[in-house]
Amino acid sequence: MPELRQDPITKRWVVIAAERNKRPQDFKVIREERKPGVCPFCEGNEKKTPPEITAYREPGTAPDEQGWWIRVVPNKFPALTYEGNLITTRDQFYTKMSGIGAHEVIIESPDHQMSLEKHSIHQLQEIFRAWRERLENLLSDSRINYVQIFKNAGARAGASLEHPHSQLIATPIIPPVVEDELAGAREYFEKEGKCLFCEISSFELSNKTRVVIENEEFCAYCPYASRFPFETWVIPKGHQASFTYLDDYLLNQLSLILKQTMQKIVTSLNRPPYNLVLHTAPKGYLESPYYHWHIEILPRLTTVAGFEWGTGIYINPTAPEVAAAFLREAPQPVFERSSR
Ligand SMILES: [Zn+2]
Ligand SMILES: [Zn+2]
Ligand SMILES: [Zn+2]
Repeated sequence: MPELRQDPITKRWVVIAAERNKRPQDFKVIREERKPGVCPFCEGNEKKTPPEITAYREPGTAPDEQGWWIRVVPNKFPALTYEGNLITTRDQFYTKMSGIGAHEVIIESPDHQMSLEKHSIHQLQEIFRAWRERLENLLSDSRINYVQIFKNAGARAGASLEHPHSQLIATPIIPPVVEDELAGAREYFEKEGKCLFCEISSFELSNKTRVVIENEEFCAYCPYASRFPFETWVIPKGHQASFTYLDDYLLNQLSLILKQTMQKIVTSLNRPPYNLVLHTAPKGYLESPYYHWHIEILPRLTTVAGFEWGTGIYINPTAPEVAAAFLREAPQPVFERSSR
């Protein structure tokens, strides 16, 4: 019997079509042919991108030259632009706002063949350090209220370039999905005096059926109302509203769990296309007792079609309990314990 399940945070409904219970081998991953060409993100091609915003590079090397391990550059075709004033105008029922914001690319490695699950722990820490630095910087701009960091991997997930990279779009508004999370978490906090995200992750950790992996500081689990097969969230066990408050120890713990989780997803599902999104506190909520940052990993194995567009209800053919059991069993790399 299929089930309609409601997400406790956003209140959105999903259909868990559990009788289909698709296993990893039931999904076909179509691998797109890449046309060969010059990759603007590869080392040596620094002049093919707009001038860098920041980079982590060897001492003595110049901007927009070789010698970097992380590079942040403006998107060549930005969705929102940094220059200008934020002006809102209303005409009858129509509202418009100037397209102020930022659209940046975080090049995660000079090496074209790298990927999240292959990076060294140190390199992952550097990627997250770059996320943290750009978040802090952009949130200090009075015109910007939210920064969405995301990653599209594989053409089916919207990636136009193969080279490992994440992106950010800073917006003058708080996006609706984040507003929904805030509203659900605020409602719970007003009733119970507790953070709903903290409550959910400790419930999942004691219940175990949807947990994929945990370490001292983080938990990875398949959410109760997963929209996508093998959807996995990574969340800090301790309460923290904003990614900008991650210290270097937490960056290390996050890198470990993310690498292990991605390795499990990649091996179980044969390198699926995926989207990864960071949800972190908007401006004004950085110290919030009820908002709690997290990473959502969304493998793109199903097609979002008419029913989903028409209703906002996703049909998920793999129950999260089944997905989590598969991911728990999947091999994962073992690392030396790092010191604090
Ligand atoms: Zn490349
Ligand atoms: Zn919390
Ligand atoms: Zn979220």
